[in-house]
Amino acid sequence: MELDLGPEARKFRDELRQWLEANHPGDLGDPGPRGILPPSPAVDAWTEKLQRAGYLCVSWPKEFGGRGLTGVEVAVMNEEFARAGVPRVTRGMGEWLVGPSIIVHGTDEQKAFFLPRIIDGTDRYCQGFSEPDAGSDLAGLKTRGVVDGEEVVITGQKVWTSGAQAANMMFCLCRTDPDAPKHRGISYVLLPMFRPEGESNGIELRPIRQITGQSHFTETFIHEARAPMFNVIGGLNNGWRVTMTTLGNERGGNATTQHVQYEREFWDLVGTVRKVGREAEPLVRQELAWAFTHVQIMRFAGLRTLSEVIARKEPGPGASINKMFWSEYHRRFGEVAMNILGPAAMIRPEGDGYRLDKWQQTFLQSRSGTIWGGTAQVQRNIVGERVLGLPKEPGAEK
Ligand SMILES: Cc1cc2nc3c(=O)[nH]c(=O)nc-3n(C[C@H](O)[C@H](O)[C@H](O)COP(=O)(O)OP(=O)(O)OC[C@H]3O[C@@H](n4cnc5c(N)ncnc54)[C@H](O)[C@@H]3O)c2cc1C
Repeated sequence: MELDLGPEARKFRDELRQWLEANHPGDLGDPGPRGILPPSPAVDAWTEKLQRAGYLCVSWPKEFGGRGLTGVEVAVMNEEFARAGVPRVTRGMGEWLVGPSIIVHGTDEQKAFFLPRIIDGTDRYCQGFSEPDAGSDLAGLKTRGVVDGEEVVITGQKVWTSGAQAANMMFCLCRTDPDAPKHRGISYVLLPMFRPEGESNGIELRPIRQITGQSHFTETFIHEARAPMFNVIGGLNNGWRVTMTTLGNERGGNATTQHVQYEREFWDLVGTVRKVGREAEPLVRQELAWAFTHVQIMRFAGLRTLSEVIARKEPGPGASINKMFWSEYHRRFGEVAMNILGPAAMIRPEGDGYRLDKWQQTFLQSRSGTIWGGTAQVQRNIVGERVLGLPKEPGAEK
C-alpha cells in the first residue's frame, strides 16, 4: 500500500518514478542482509548517475550540496526505489553520520571543505569510537590527542572499526584534556588514514573474523597519527556534543529506510516458505504474520522519528526506540527463518571456504544488530531516562 502524504509528496513521487523508469540501472546484485551492494562497475556507474542527478545525501540542505528533501520526501524516495527494485546507494557513514554532524557543529570553512568531499566520494569514513575498555561507556575512552602546533597527534587503540579497510578517513574520538571530567576533555577529529605521500598515517588495521566468516571490522592501532587542527569538529575538548549528534543519527537517521530492506527480506522468506511447501502450516503462518506486523510498525515508527528530525534538525532520544525495535525484530526474524528451514538450516552449502546460504547469513549477521550503535540495554537506559524521565541508573554521573 502506498501512503498518501499530500500533494507535494505526490508530485515528488511522480517525478521520481519517471526518473527511475528512464534511468533504471538493471540488476545490480543482491545487497544482502547489510543492505550494501557488492562493488562492481555497474554499481559505480549507477552511483555516478545518482550523484549527477542529485540523489545522494538527499536530506542534507541544498546549500551544502544535498537536495534539501523533507522527511516525507525521503520516505517517498525510499518507497519509490524499493518499488522500482533499485537499492538506494548512499555515501555510507559519511552521508549518514559525519556529514550531519559537520552540518550541525562545523564552522563554515569546515562545511565548505568536508561536505563536498563526502558527496563526490573523495572521503570515505570509518568510525573510530569504541575501544577495548570503552564501548557502552564510550566517554571512558583513553586514546590520547596532543596538540602540537597546528596539528593534533593521536595515539591509542580502537576496536570494531567497521569498513576501516575501505576508508581513507576516520571520525575519531580522542581525549585532549585528561584532567577534565570524562565527558568534557574529548575531541572529535576527522583523521586522515594516510599521509599526503600515500603511506599510512601511523594506523595499523588488524581484521577481526566474524561469526559469518567475513571481516567487516578491525582492531585499529593508532600511533602518532596527525590531523590538522582544522579537522577538529565542534572545538577542542568539545567533542561529546558532536558525538551525541552522530550517535543520534546512527540510532535514528535511517529510521525510514529500515522497513524497506526488511520488507524485501520478508517477501523473500515468504518465497522460501512456498518453495519448501510449508505455507499452509498454521505455526509458520503465525510467524510470518508476526514478522509482517513488525515491519509495518517499523515503517510508521520511522515516520514518527522523521517528524522529530524535521522539528529538531536531528534525531532525539526517541530514536533509541527505533534502534531497539529493528535490532530485536531482526534477531528474532533470523531465528524464524532458521526454524522454517528446519534441519536443513544446520548444513552449510558445499564448496570452498566458510560458505553460508542467504538465511544462515541473515541469522548470524542479525546477532550483531543489538550490539552496534549502542546495545539494546543501553537503548533501554536512554528511553527510561531521556524519554520517560525516570531517574538515572545507579552510579551514573549527574
Ligand atoms: C557489527 C558491529 C559493528 C561495529 N562497528 C563499530 C564501528 O564501526 N566503530 C566503533 O567505534 N564501534 C563499532 N562497534 C562497537 C559497538 O559500538 C560496541 O560493541 C557497543 O557499543 C558495545 O560495547 P562493548 O562491545 O564494549 O560492550 P560492553 O559495553 O562491555 O557491554 C557488555 C554488556 O554489558 C551491557 N551493559 C553495559 N553497560 C550497561 C549499562 N549501563 N546498563 C545496562 N547494560 C549495560 C551491554 O548491553 C552488553 O550486553 C561495532 C560493533 C558490532 C557488533
